[in-house]
Amino acid sequence: MKPVYFDNNATTKVDPRVLEAMLPYFTEQFGNASSLHAFGAEVGAAVKGARRDLQALLGAEHDHEIVFTSGGTEGDNAAILSALEASPRRREVITSAVEHPAVLSLCAWLEKNRGVKVHVIPVDAKGRLDMAAYEAALSERVAIVSIMWANNETGTLFPVAKLAEMAKPYGILFHTDAVQAVGKVPMDLKSTAIDMLSLSGHKLHAPKGIGALYVRRGTRFRPQIKGGQQERGRRAGTENTPGIVALGVAARLAGDYMAEENGRVRGLRDRLEKGLLQRIPSCFATGDVENRLPNTANVAFEFVEGEGILLLLNRAGIAASSGSACTSGSLEPSHVLRAMSIPYTAAHGAIRFSLSRDSSGEEVDRVIEAMPGIIEKLRALSPFWDGSGAASAFNPVYA
Ligand SMILES: *Cc1c(COP(=O)(O)O)cnc(C)c1O
Repeated sequence: MKPVYFDNNATTKVDPRVLEAMLPYFTEQFGNASSLHAFGAEVGAAVKGARRDLQALLGAEHDHEIVFTSGGTEGDNAAILSALEASPRRREVITSAVEHPAVLSLCAWLEKNRGVKVHVIPVDAKGRLDMAAYEAALSERVAIVSIMWANNETGTLFPVAKLAEMAKPYGILFHTDAVQAVGKVPMDLKSTAIDMLSLSGHKLHAPKGIGALYVRRGTRFRPQIKGGQQERGRRAGTENTPGIVALGVAARLAGDYMAEENGRVRGLRDRLEKGLLQRIPSCFATGDVENRLPNTANVAFEFVEGEGILLLLNRAGIAASSGSACTSGSLEPSHVLRAMSIPYTAAHGAIRFSLSRDSSGEEVDRVIEAMPGIIEKLRALSPFWDGSGAASAFNPVYA
């Protein structure tokens, strides 16, 4: 049987149309986009086309606002480091407790090694930002706010347009890690106060190692990679032209599929989640279930280990995830679920199912069939499970 891949928030499969479009840029179209001969000109035009496709997906004012990068991590680092360099008198940063490590570990490093004060804004039990704490942290000492558009573990959406508006009167730059939101959530950046946004190709059916940073026109910006004049001096290094072409096509396809993502894929996700919650005792959906990405369900199964669930799911030909790929392998439960005050007994057993436009109803049914037996088997071995099957004591979502 074909394996079920429900780990699309970790990475997605390259769309065959994306692959087909990029292949000529390894062969006949091998030119350097900056060269002044015909080899370069054709490639340069393709790069320009990809920039326009991204501009359209993001609703940006101008295609020059798109800077191609190596991915989400580079975009996050570039935005935050640039803002601190561009505003040397502002030595504070605001972020949230549930960011990706690309933001959180950089902030921890800045605090330890550069004397930057980092305000880590907490979230409530549903993963929603503490707006009072956010408002209290805003001041003219802050160089940049970096808050994600959508959380990669729970899919919870943050009100980034509103957060950006709130930061504006203080002259603070606003960056959002939108790696999970781009292609799933409609965007019109020109009508917001968002200054910078990072995205990553491999989360939207383009290859790994390509991404982009949106930098609003007029934004104070300092390049972090110095060298040639590529990307209008904002990101040196010969352009990854096959990757850029791929990202352009992926952006176009993501725009075409957005309605399906929010209709059919959302329906499949809801059917999966409902099926699991109905058939399995003592489990609950985590995050802000009313306000989240259409493709993501994160369900905490109490008194079991996530790693055990993943192992047995894998044996059944099903791929899912516990926490983020970046923290799995450590015994600590996800920092995102801990920030939501979900107790260890439940956070340890949280599984993220992330679907995509490649997902089918038959796959959803296979997961709903497999899970009850897996949880029962693991609980039979758990010293903490009393077999009562009683309703969850801690259920922030449905309590
Ligand atoms: C995957 C991911 C990243 C990292 O992107 P890369 O392209 O893999 O560097 C950053 N932020 C979020 C929210 C992600 O999901």
